[in-house]
Amino acid sequence: MTNTTTNAMTTSTTEVAPEGTTRTVAAYAAARPDAPLEKTTITRRAVGEHDIVIDIKFSGICHSDIHQVGEDWGSGIFPMVPGHEIAGVVRAVGPGVTRWQVGDRVGVGCFVDSCRECDNCRAGLQQYCTGQGGAVFTYNGVGHDGLPTYGGYSSELVVDEGYALRIPDNLPLDAAAPLLCAGITLYSPLAHWGAGPGRKVAIVGLGGLGHMGVKIAHAMGAEVTVLSQSLRKREDGLKLGADHYRATSDPATFTELAGTFDLIVNTVSADLDLSAYLGLLRTDGTLVQVGAPEKPVTVNAHALLTGRRSLAGSMIGGLPGTQEMLDFCGEHGITAEIELIRAEQINEAYRRVLAGDVRFRFVIDAATI
Ligand SMILES: [Zn+2]
Ligand SMILES: [Zn+2]
Repeated sequence: MTNTTTNAMTTSTTEVAPEGTTRTVAAYAAARPDAPLEKTTITRRAVGEHDIVIDIKFSGICHSDIHQVGEDWGSGIFPMVPGHEIAGVVRAVGPGVTRWQVGDRVGVGCFVDSCRECDNCRAGLQQYCTGQGGAVFTYNGVGHDGLPTYGGYSSELVVDEGYALRIPDNLPLDAAAPLLCAGITLYSPLAHWGAGPGRKVAIVGLGGLGHMGVKIAHAMGAEVTVLSQSLRKREDGLKLGADHYRATSDPATFTELAGTFDLIVNTVSADLDLSAYLGLLRTDGTLVQVGAPEKPVTVNAHALLTGRRSLAGSMIGGLPGTQEMLDFCGEHGITAEIELIRAEQINEAYRRVLAGDVRFRFVIDAATI
């Protein structure tokens, strides 16, 4: 491809690599399962006709990054460059790109491609793609070109223009990065099950996911309760927009709040007694799992049928839903609460995430990679 594709641009960063030329970029990778992340270089694919090159500015650390480096969910592809909460700026565009211009503020979330033809892809639910191989995850996946995907702990990303999202101008890129996974993971079920005025919503757990749930559900107009093991983060929860904050270690919580909620979103992946939580739902209420416990969950059927209650699951969101979430967050000025770190602090940040010592999301300054 030639620079005629970028002749409308005026900066010096608009150069597109010649067709067929791959890009060597800086990254932090785990060489093997559970290995510490170390600075290295990786090869990004050549810029295709509909690809954009993103100058990564910030990348969030999601708990699932740690799970995948540790092969907790099955064998991984190594070296592994994690990161699916990516915020940056378009550096260059392929010749066929129509959606983006150099300088646009963009985000990339948990997937970078899908079959585009199955019912779910056509419905904008690419995360549930049923085509061969399903959605192509941003890292620890295999692209349609047969090459492994590498995530956001890197200086640059090459991605199809249709799989990038617009980040509203009023949101700072560092605190917006976690919206691409944590934000949409909570927004999607809250929107789908109708959180809004007159609805009582409980968020279980006040971590990286839960704190986004509190902010978003509050902005949607719902009455929000945090259900947390202890009252340790109560002040934080109320500041983030919760109306109530209750400890699940206190048995009175389950008797006093029985039959209260229209919707409960469980962000905790530890084993909880889901039957007890189902008892907190009103008739026709729904308990949605967004965290994934390692072991199968057990539920007392009486907890479901005595109130026509539902137990459901939800995984991130599709492209239209993710853009809707970003626009919603732009309108309401919602971003994540973050602790910005340098790339060399990634391993320490992993240890702190595992210890629950983060309020509420670590974000890597990609300029330090
Ligand atoms: Zn994530
Ligand atoms: Zn599909």
